[in-house]
Amino acid sequence: MVIPFVSRLDLDAQQAWIDVLSAAMPDEHIVPFATLTPEQKSACHLAIVADPEPNDLLALPALTWVHSVWAGVERMVHELVSPTFSIVRLVDPQLADTMSEAVLAWTLFLHRDMPAYAKQQANYRWEQRPMVQAKERRIGVLGLGELGKVSALRLAHNGFSVAGWSRNEKHIAGITCFDGHEGLVSLLRQSDILVCLLPLTSETKGLLSRESLAYLPAGAGLINFARGLIIDDNALLEKLDQGVVSHAVLDVFMQEPLPKNHQYWQHHAVTVLPHISAPTHLISASLILADNIKYYRMTGIIPSCVDVSRGY
Ligand code: NAP
Repeated sequence: MVIPFVSRLDLDAQQAWIDVLSAAMPDEHIVPFATLTPEQKSACHLAIVADPEPNDLLALPALTWVHSVWAGVERMVHELVSPTFSIVRLVDPQLADTMSEAVLAWTLFLHRDMPAYAKQQANYRWEQRPMVQAKERRIGVLGLGELGKVSALRLAHNGFSVAGWSRNEKHIAGITCFDGHEGLVSLLRQSDILVCLLPLTSETKGLLSRESLAYLPAGAGLINFARGLIIDDNALLEKLDQGVVSHAVLDVFMQEPLPKNHQYWQHHAVTVLPHISAPTHLISASLILADNIKYYRMTGIIPSCVDVSRGY
């Protein structure tokens, strides 16, 4: 039975995925959604997806589950109203490793005052700023899931004092864990650098608001590698202008690509990245999908799914 690849990516990108996925699972017949016959549409119960058009999935009435090649499935969860099939997202240790590398790199960028030294150089200014040791630098990680936990541990292994925040209570050796609303306030109050790795849900949308950003210590740094809508942009710009937040490294935005007239592009205290903190690795991701689909063929067991009501 064929497995359709359902996606809004351009045709070349779709074919690149189909080629790598087919190489990883040579027993499966993976085809573009557009080539399905009506009989195939009626029969298929599994699809592989990358930002799928919701109506394409609704045209597959026997669908039991879909496997996303991406870790973030917020758009799909938002666009599908009460889906009758399960959504499995990519959980790839390679992706968590890549994300933790980006988190470490940009935390070091803020920790070692690189934005300030770049400005000093532009003004021919020779000035040695006070040195802060890593253990004195308190990092707060919002979200302790697949990406947040690995990133928090990598920061701790590099000597930083690390705390994290999740929905459910957690115990992670070397990390101070907070949860719930009060936990959020406690975490924000002690975050010299705040790293956001939360999924975008109805609860996290606009979470970094005027009110919550005000809890940060004066001059805190901010890194958002999750989703743009978690931050209230106007609130952040206000806090940057007031110096409450000294610098923001932003990889994700409400609208991507970031519109040319957006204030972030020219802002002296913002680093704009084009959604590159943790790109999916085609081969690594395809091998994980291949394992999951092989296991499903053998046992009928669908891998752990996204909780659509929770939003992640
Ligand atoms: P995940 O495994 O689902 O983990 C999500 C974490 O957020 C969990 O610890 C969860 O708490 C916590 N959380 C969710 N809602 C919360 C709430 N209302 N209050 C407190 N904590 C909450 O997700 P992940 O794989 O780590 O990925 C996180 C996000 O990274 C993705 O959703 C995606 O948006 C983004 N991402 C970005 C890139 C990029 O290149 N920029 C690449 C991949 C992914 P519990 O543990 O208690 O459930």
